[in-house]
Amino acid sequence: MKIAVIGTGYVGLTTGVGLAEIGHKVVCIDREESKINKLKNGQLPFFEQNLEELCGKNSKNGRIAFDSDMKEAVGNADLIIIAVGTPPHPITKEADMKYIHAAATELADFLQGYTVVATKSTVPVGTGDDIETLIKKKNPKADFDVVSLPEFLREGFAVHDFFHPDRIIVGANSERAFNVIKNLYSYFADKTKILHVQRRSAETIKYAANAFLAMKIHYVNELADFCEKTDVDIFEVAQGIGADTRIGDKFLQPGPGYGGSCFPKDTLAMAYMARQNNVEMGLINTVIQGNNKRKKDMAERILLSVKGIENPKIAVWGLAFKAGTDDCRESPAIDILAQLLENKANICVYDPKAMEKAKILLGNKVSFAENMYTAVQGADVLVILTEWQEFKETDLEKVAGAMRTKTILDFRNCLDKEKVKAGGFAYRGIGRK
Ligand code: NAD
Repeated sequence: MKIAVIGTGYVGLTTGVGLAEIGHKVVCIDREESKINKLKNGQLPFFEQNLEELCGKNSKNGRIAFDSDMKEAVGNADLIIIAVGTPPHPITKEADMKYIHAAATELADFLQGYTVVATKSTVPVGTGDDIETLIKKKNPKADFDVVSLPEFLREGFAVHDFFHPDRIIVGANSERAFNVIKNLYSYFADKTKILHVQRRSAETIKYAANAFLAMKIHYVNELADFCEKTDVDIFEVAQGIGADTRIGDKFLQPGPGYGGSCFPKDTLAMAYMARQNNVEMGLINTVIQGNNKRKKDMAERILLSVKGIENPKIAVWGLAFKAGTDDCRESPAIDILAQLLENKANICVYDPKAMEKAKILLGNKVSFAENMYTAVQGADVLVILTEWQEFKETDLEKVAGAMRTKTILDFRNCLDKEKVKAGGFAYRGIGRK
């Protein structure tokens, strides 16, 4: 099948590369020429495990190509996948549809023959209807269907998730369009449940799933606070409740709050849609407020740990919103750092992958260390904010030798509490006394 993917971000590029790998012919399009040039030279515009190798392989065998102009690729395509960003609107916090509308308007002119236009971006209910209207207005003769194909990949595991999806949701209002998508995913036919639903249901499923997961994270964070006050270990509690198949053991790791490019914006967008439809969804509002407070609480814990020290130095390990990615969008680390900076803290940071992205957000307000050990040089507290494997394998003696005051705040529970204490550190994890 010939496919044009619009947007070469985490979702668009992973989808394009995955579809090429299972045998389709794909052109990935991005309006940012610098990204396309990088891709043509075999480089990725972001970090995602195993994607560069797979992308290079499929470029070489001619199954994937890159372009900044959509005319030719869209004209030749049986299927167009829209995977552009839907960030929160700066004022209303609803999903901002400007990139979706621009992409739909632009592609309309180039459609030839029957084409399915699929949205992989996370979009509010009714967006498929809007895209249909926009295309019809621009190109009344076009023969097309619009479907919703919500994406559930996790950054850091995106390639794995492409090949091992829990389920594939297809929001198609016509059998003709559904059959095109069935054909697209024929590789998965005997491996994965393909669920055919109405387009509006598919659009809602994505928000409903993300809001639920955000709620689960917030719940375990609240439980962790409870455990800290009652001399209970959150690990044991999470294990105990996670073993119940009705609850499940995923998303039960407490931390500094959820972040990333999806949960914060999707919970806000869901809350906005509920308000617009006069539906009371108090749970989501509580989660959003609770998560914001969580990050403030974490910043306060850090400031408290250096109270009374003259010109304290704070070392931070981890800037990405989670391990396995360089994505710092809505990273709890960035929000926590912003609050520390308001208090004029002297901060040195390190992240194995996210330094470049973080520099764009933090500028010269913090210093960027060459490695994890130089970051802790002369520090009065080490704060761990992302659960990278290399932090779990820390040489504690080296850290102890470098720090001025031996205090560790481990907001991802990366370290072995007993070993850290044996190393002479004052240690505080999350959800443990
Ligand atoms: P991203 O910001 O990384 O990438 C979007 C890309 O689209 C950018 O490269 C941008 O230049 C390009 N673009 C924007 N408008 C364009 C246009 N008119 N023509 C061509 N290119 C255009 O975004 P992302 O993280 O890949 O997310 C994309 C969508 O997928 C969002 O709606 C997001 O909510 C959803 N989603 C993301 C994830 C995730 O983990 N990142 C997971 C599931 C769903």
